[in-house]
Amino acid sequence: MSKKVRTIPLHSQILIGIFAGILCGTSVIFIQGGHTFIQFYVAPFGNIFLKLLQLIAIPVILTSLITGLAKIKDVKKIGSMGLKTVIFFICTTLIATTIGVIIADIIRPGKSIDENIKKEMIASMGVTSDDISDQLNTGGSPLTFIENMVPSNFFQSISSNQNMIQVVLFAILFGVALSRIGEEKAKPVLLFLEGTNEALTLMINLIMKIAPLGVFALVASVLAKVSAGDLQKSIHLLSGLAWYSLSVLTGLCIMICLVYPVLFYTFSGTSYSMFFKSMRSAFLLAFTSSSSSATLPLTMQCVEKNLKVDKEIAGFVLPFGTTINMDGTALYQCVAAIFIAQFFNLELSWTQQIVIILTATTAAAGAAGIPGAGMVTLIMILQNAGLPTAGINLILIPDRILDMCRTVINVAGDVTACLVVKGRSKA
Ligand code: ASP
Repeated sequence: MSKKVRTIPLHSQILIGIFAGILCGTSVIFIQGGHTFIQFYVAPFGNIFLKLLQLIAIPVILTSLITGLAKIKDVKKIGSMGLKTVIFFICTTLIATTIGVIIADIIRPGKSIDENIKKEMIASMGVTSDDISDQLNTGGSPLTFIENMVPSNFFQSISSNQNMIQVVLFAILFGVALSRIGEEKAKPVLLFLEGTNEALTLMINLIMKIAPLGVFALVASVLAKVSAGDLQKSIHLLSGLAWYSLSVLTGLCIMICLVYPVLFYTFSGTSYSMFFKSMRSAFLLAFTSSSSSATLPLTMQCVEKNLKVDKEIAGFVLPFGTTINMDGTALYQCVAAIFIAQFFNLELSWTQQIVIILTATTAAAGAAGIPGAGMVTLIMILQNAGLPTAGINLILIPDRILDMCRTVINVAGDVTACLVVKGRSKA
């Protein structure tokens, strides 16, 4: 008789990792040398876990997208799926950015800071905006990011996770082309890719075995980093940013508690509890890793297995969404831009606010699915709206925590897109 082994579900394992990480990360405040210990001996395990997830992200995108598209013989079907997806992405990002602007206008987080804290915040602007703008490839034209989406060298594209959108574009073209060549020639290529995809799925399962350890290390190192240095001063400065953080979190809550449920329920009939139950491990991983691309392999697995979305849809919408659909990031960027304007007592006109909404929609699309990417492309928004880019330094302290939250929304937005594209017909 086979013995039934009871395994702890993945989301519970991740939760255990989170709690252990919180315990460990906060207890180092009281232990001398604790920060160094975490940095040297715990953080590497989190990095290893993230690296392993990122390692399979590009191969997963390539194989799922190509096999998914190659099987759709009807080019019209691909066109309609692509169109639906793009319309969804644009609409939800515009909704997110508008919500961000409205909330920032109502709460006015930049106005509610005590003058003394304000002075300290300005004094604490340690990092210059140049440090951040150096990382941003500002080519001048707002269309640069579309230009950068097009790859010129396949191997260069797959050599960096930052170029994921180029890989997506290549995979779309290759998948469509494969569906149009004769079956005899396409079959071996497809078989190879399908086999690779299956092996990658197994790799995901293997990597997720160390998820509790990886998540534990990630959470502990983030907390240890936050509490390193002058903790009292950080808390003091953080109090000045409380309304700002609250504004971002309120907006993100509206997206996940209201906007997405309305959409996935209306278009696919999926209930709220089903949505969260199916996606909880992916959301927890997104939260702890702050990286939607590292979460992508698990997101795909949850969407296909638990929400029963066809591989063809999930394989197209999710990789595409992970690279260009970032509602959480776009919303945060709007609140941050308006916060910075209010902080420096700069009154924004309606047109400037519309510029912020539009540039945030493109800036978020240009951000990579990695920790802190949204803050880098925020520079572009500030520049376009004529706001001081040095203001970025003001929002550095709570950024990692906000990043963890906005990454969950970024992933939830892509999952909602899958359900909307799937519709009710293929339940
Ligand atoms: N960390 C986010 C993501 O991976 C991007 C960002 O907003 O920084 O989706």
